[in-house]
Amino acid sequence: MFFVVKWAKIKLLAVGVTVFCCFAGMMVAGQRAQQVSGAAYEELYPDLYVDSEGTFEPETGKVVYYTFDDGPSKNTLAILDVLKEKGVKATFFVTGQEAAGIDSDAVLKRIVEEGHSIGIHTYSHKSKEIYQSVESYLEDFYKIREKIIQATGVQPHIFRFPGGSVNNSFADPAVQKAIRIEMRRRGFIYYDWNVVSGDDKSYMTDTQTLIQNIVNGAQGKDKVVILCHDDSMRVSTAEAVGPVIDQLTAQGYRFDRLTESVEPVQFNHNDD
Ligand SMILES: [Zn+2]
Repeated sequence: MFFVVKWAKIKLLAVGVTVFCCFAGMMVAGQRAQQVSGAAYEELYPDLYVDSEGTFEPETGKVVYYTFDDGPSKNTLAILDVLKEKGVKATFFVTGQEAAGIDSDAVLKRIVEEGHSIGIHTYSHKSKEIYQSVESYLEDFYKIREKIIQATGVQPHIFRFPGGSVNNSFADPAVQKAIRIEMRRRGFIYYDWNVVSGDDKSYMTDTQTLIQNIVNGAQGKDKVVILCHDDSMRVSTAEAVGPVIDQLTAQGYRFDRLTESVEPVQFNHNDD
């Protein structure tokens, strides 16, 4: 009938401890404490916590956050070259893949050295496996986080769910909700998107179509988070970067990278 309060859980357990102290019946208190302290997976990976302020900096003007999932690959290098030439910062939600023709750790390092944000996407990208349970999600997440830290020395605070945070066809809604709550409890912040490039539909999508999709999708939005993919198949995604930057800059947008200080764009769901 005893439980251990870990420092990282003190805030969440505060209510439970109060209840514990106030109830005379130990059984009732024990059941309540268990509900508040949560499931066994909360005990896993005791170093998988980050301190995120939970406060976001105010944004002014029209801003674009260009984001790339599923890299690194040789297309990441092509994108980095364009971003450097244009003086633009972006965000890369990376995987653990070892794509042909590159040294993945060196690419991760270059992303950080050139001032871009690095976030967690997934190690394996095997959605059916990682969304089986909170435990399997944490296992995959921990693996890619370790790779990023070893390659770059940077501890990522931000991440993106494969398939997005909700209505993901691979995940049971209840499991995904539990994952969202658990990741938030551990201090990580996830970012969805509000503009799609369309490069997820096919790696054959031509460059001009991607540019048009992005530029049209941005219309009327002050804050734009663009979903793109920099895996090795999507050459046109890299080719679109320069024209997209030019056209949206001409429309008064500035480009920035996502950090935990940027209020996230998230799909609607009620986790409270
Ligand atoms: Zn992905």
